[in-house]
Amino acid sequence: MLGSRWPALEGDAVPAVRLYHRGSALGRAWLREHRIGLNAPLLRRADGWQAARETVAHEVAHLAAWAVYRDRGHGAGWRQVMAALGVPATRTHSLDVSGIPGTQRRWRYRCACSTHRITTTRHNRIRQGRMRYHCRRCGEALARELEGGPGVDT
Ligand SMILES: [Zn+2]
Ligand SMILES: [Zn+2]
Repeated sequence: MLGSRWPALEGDAVPAVRLYHRGSALGRAWLREHRIGLNAPLLRRADGWQAARETVAHEVAHLAAWAVYRDRGHGAGWRQVMAALGVPATRTHSLDVSGIPGTQRRWRYRCACSTHRITTTRHNRIRQGRMRYHCRRCGEALARELEGGPGVDT
């Protein structure tokens, strides 16, 4: 189905898969290596089956978007592939990351154009007035955003 729409996707559908055991991201994609990674301890947690299905689709869609559009992020190409796969184009999850090595609490900040999640180290520097961070896209200084639940980039 995808192959008839995007001939570049004929064949080569099975990427190499690597399991990893650190960090809060559910999955990763290595575009040139045609490889995806899955966070094994995180996908064993509650709702892991659902999350695993969507994570595999999310990462495979990165490989497809790269093959078809040279889209290396969550741009229009990636979103089109997600729609074709019938999976919601989400970039965050709400699984419990506590106790998994390499996870660190992230603090939500805002600029004029988007939301940023920054580490506790940076958050403390800002709070103590020792540092200001600016959005690379719009140039505005980041300011704390108070509402909203936890979110983790995948
Ligand atoms: Zn911005
Ligand atoms: Zn992604």
